[in-house]
Amino acid sequence: MKKCIPFVFILFIVTIGYSQILKKEIPDKLVVLTFDDAPASQYSVVAPLLKDFGFGATFFVCEFPPNHKDSTLYMNWRQIKALDKMGFEVANHTHTHANVSKLTQSEFNAELEYIENKCDSLGIQKPQNFAYPGYGLNANALEYLQKKEYAFARAGGNRAYDPLTDHPFLIPSWATNADNKNEIISALEEAKNGKIVVITLHGVPDVEHPWVNTPPKLFREYLQYLSDQNFKVVSLRDLQAYIDVDIAKGSIVPDLDSPLKN
Ligand SMILES: [Zn+2]
Repeated sequence: MKKCIPFVFILFIVTIGYSQILKKEIPDKLVVLTFDDAPASQYSVVAPLLKDFGFGATFFVCEFPPNHKDSTLYMNWRQIKALDKMGFEVANHTHTHANVSKLTQSEFNAELEYIENKCDSLGIQKPQNFAYPGYGLNANALEYLQKKEYAFARAGGNRAYDPLTDHPFLIPSWATNADNKNEIISALEEAKNGKIVVITLHGVPDVEHPWVNTPPKLFREYLQYLSDQNFKVVSLRDLQAYIDVDIAKGSIVPDLDSPLKN
């Protein structure tokens, strides 16, 4: 009996990292769609199309200055509430699209709490996840997010998310624009062997920020491709079915030197 103990112990050590961070195996072809900045087309174009395809998604909302009150350019809160009611995730992108690497803890908290309070007052599920505006981040931002008990935070970096090595507050993503279809299609091929592909989109179309424009025709092509190729398309919060974020945060050292900007 005694002879068995070292073997069992070694087996335990070998499997501990894998089995604890992952609640279940990451399937191939797992893709997360995220939409930033609350442009009006996310309500009028994106949400109905996602529903048609039965896809999940996360909407990182903010009140983008200076024109967020112009309903031809941005969603209003009634429309954001409708996204929540449709089953999509509404998540936090700060009140004013602030570069959080330049904020004190109390300034960052105020940016987060504005969106949290808006959601609370409208009966929208409490935001669990965050996306860094302009991909601005630093070690302090991670600490503040942890104190506010956020689960995941999305960055950029043009690479796939490996839940065993990427810290949950440094989730990499690719961002779409009007001209990088080939890059996005080949990125989707990396959703295998335990890695998840996270895509960042803005307006479909994006009137105010043409450098992150995704034309509606191209967006439809992406959804059709994902459907035809049998990808599983989910929101960021859906990843908690696969990943124990507390254990991941306790065992993965955040690598701020890895590519994190798009
Ligand atoms: Zn943004």
